Amino acid sequence: MNNRALIERDLAVLWHPCSQMKDYELSGDEALPMIPIKSGSGVWLEDFNGNRYLDAISSWWVNLFGHANPTINQAIKDQLDTLEHVILGGFSHQAAIELAEKLVEITPAGLNKCFYADSGSAAVEIALKMSFHYWRNLGKTEKNRFITLENSYHGETLGALAVGNVALYKSTYAPLLMDVISVPGPDCYFREPGESWRDYSSRRFKAMEEALAEHAESVSAVIVEPLVQCAGNMRMYDPVYLKLLRDACDRYEVHLIADEIAVGFGRTGTLFACEQAGISPDFLCLSKGLTGGYLPLSAVLTTDNVYRAFYDEYRNLNAFLHSHSYTGNALGCRAALATIGIFQQQDVLARNRRLAEVLAGALERFREHPKVGEVRQTGLIAAIELVKDKRTREPYPWQQRRGLRVYRHALAQGVLLRPLGNVIYFMPPYVINEAEIELMVEVAWQGVQLAVQD
Ligand SMILES: *Cc1c(COP(=O)(O)O)cnc(C)c1O
Repeated sequence: MNNRALIERDLAVLWHPCSQMKDYELSGDEALPMIPIKSGSGVWLEDFNGNRYLDAISSWWVNLFGHANPTINQAIKDQLDTLEHVILGGFSHQAAIELAEKLVEITPAGLNKCFYADSGSAAVEIALKMSFHYWRNLGKTEKNRFITLENSYHGETLGALAVGNVALYKSTYAPLLMDVISVPGPDCYFREPGESWRDYSSRRFKAMEEALAEHAESVSAVIVEPLVQCAGNMRMYDPVYLKLLRDACDRYEVHLIADEIAVGFGRTGTLFACEQAGISPDFLCLSKGLTGGYLPLSAVLTTDNVYRAFYDEYRNLNAFLHSHSYTGNALGCRAALATIGIFQQQDVLARNRRLAEVLAGALERFREHPKVGEVRQTGLIAAIELVKDKRTREPYPWQQRRGLRVYRHALAQGVLLRPLGNVIYFMPPYVINEAEIELMVEVAWQGVQLAVQD
């Protein structure tokens, strides 16, 4: 079996996510090679021709402790021989219970109830529905809108897409989406020269305060991605914004939904990004790293207060009648428990902070590059923004697909980078070592030189 034979079979029947399928058939500058992966080990993936690729983006931000991690593998194998899955309506199982206990224990204070689903988007839908339904159960049926930040991303299903703001994914479907209130965000890319992240993010809160003052009576919740808007080009902001937001949501009686699907589980330097602001949201959405990148599982954590608003006589019809077939899947829960176990057995956060410093050091050289508008980093997420003009930060036209040149070069050098437009970013598994960080950054450097030619 080699790559070529598999690619042919693949393209005959498979429709890939987030892809213009024609790109895979092209040759030349615009071509995207399809790569069938045979196996994975640690940060490395291997294809059917024996080429290896360093997974610098954790396979779409899900992998934490490497591919084929022995600890997680074993936990899933043990669970597999006991119970693979059982309906969670009216039934329960040990892994679902233990994981809910664990999540309540490790997430910010006050989040005492755990509702499971099977993808990040589904978790977002649940948080939106629960928030709306909470107010409805209290008789406040007029609270039926959501506030979202510019440049945010919360998934691809229609509700999640509606509260997101990345035009590339959203604009086509606009006629299908509910109307939301979009507020200018705290993303620090646009701060004045010399202005601190903290000052900029604080001053940007004014727009949120105004939106809440104007609309609070009709607003159910504000939804945000704490600290890093990942799909929105890895744009970052200061924790002070979350503090201000928590306070304002309390004053205006509006829920706060924290979507930590991408940033949860140690990515930003703390176990959850909200910790850096010292806040607890009313709803916390988790997925991606939750199972260490093994299985599709998500969870929404919420408060006793929210839970109680649904707890009633059946005939009053106040229950949350939402379900997904694979809710609380036993294999997924067991993978998640093994993943959280690794955090508790090893000092993962301390190691991540050291790795983040190594990464910051390696990225220093990009700062003075004439085509780099910004190098930014929060924990183990770092991004380089390529620009046509360093002074004005005028972007390269998207049609030039310069990030794609970096992608192609990196693959040829054995590194999987997957730029978002003109933004090259690094979000490696936590088991990466220093030499691998140097390799990943060196290959990105070469790729950038190629990408900015002509
Ligand atoms: C990936 C992502 C989602 C959607 O999760 P899926 O599992 O892809 O549906 C939602 N919010 C954020 C912040 C994400 O990064």
